[in-house]
Amino acid sequence: PVAACAQTGLGSGDPAAAARQAMVEQQLVARGIDDTRVLDAMRRVPRHRFVPEALAEQAYGDQPLPIGHDQTISQPYIVALMTQLARPAPDDRVLEVGTGSGYQAAVLAELAGEVYSIEIVTPLATRAALTLRRLGYSNVAVRSGDGYAGWPEHAPFGAIVVTAAPERIPPPLLEQLAPGGRLVIPVGPLHATQELRVVEKREDGSLHERVVIPVRFVPLTGEAATRDRGDP
Ligand code: SAM
Repeated sequence: PVAACAQTGLGSGDPAAAARQAMVEQQLVARGIDDTRVLDAMRRVPRHRFVPEALAEQAYGDQPLPIGHDQTISQPYIVALMTQLARPAPDDRVLEVGTGSGYQAAVLAELAGEVYSIEIVTPLATRAALTLRRLGYSNVAVRSGDGYAGWPEHAPFGAIVVTAAPERIPPPLLEQLAPGGRLVIPVGPLHATQELRVVEKREDGSLHERVVIPVRFVPLTGEAATRDRGDP
């Protein structure tokens, strides 16, 4: 965890581009993000368009921000880290579970062939789809629904990024991972620190899992994730 720093450095020229450049250097490069494709994508995507207008000045700060419906857009570093771990290739189909604002989907869309993103809160899915369309992202499909089940019609996926935490990894997501694919997912109990994990499916179908860092995400909701937790 790092102290919040919410200045955007607005000035003449393209203020958002200057703020993004500062974000990339001070929050991403400084913390070890070194994939140049990811850094370039983070320099390009206009994060201020994905946050509520009243918070646009804070869009490039070092923190998550509220987007309504008790949900958040993740901290820029976490978006960059998950993207770097997912390693989306230009011809990959990528699945995201937890569209939220659509920002992570846009970063993935800069790097992958096709992005499929699922959001359980319908008004968020609708708004994210509109934002992405207005910005010209024609390779992203957003649908409203429970991402626990993945999106089998478009599987297998070269990478899957989950931005809400289940207590156990949903088996359908492992099934829908292509051989050679990567699943990046926070896993852990409700209202506690979770582990950011990467699961790689080798060409022979075997799964290899590693823990990257402790994180704090909103819980994966929906019937199946709730059943896995054993909640009443
Ligand atoms: N990736 C988002 C972005 O770039 O703005 C941030 C996502 S926010 C941390 C997590 C999102 O996951 C929330 O919008 C939440 O409604 C959604 N979510 C939670 N459970 C879900 C589920 N079972 N299926 C799909 N989305 C879910």
